Amino acid sequence: MVQAYAEIVRYAIRPINEIYHLVTRGGQHTLCGLRVSRIASNHSGNRLQLVHQLPTDRNICKHCERIKSQDTEA
Ligand SMILES: [Zn+2]
Repeated sequence: MVQAYAEIVRYAIRPINEIYHLVTRGGQHTLCGLRVSRIASNHSGNRLQLVHQLPTDRNICKHCERIKSQDTEA
């Protein structure tokens, strides 16, 4: 049985590195458990920002990748 949890609809990025995370359906957290902010901020380079398109110039977060694969196989 497929869980709704597996449905990835958004991605999250940080300006300071070149990794993107997968965001759960609710849009509140990444698969690896980081909290996602919906509010854009100029002075917080460390904050996760939601993006709606796959950031093709970035690498997927290893934790998100692993969790997603486990979830799909379950
Ligand atoms: Zn992640």
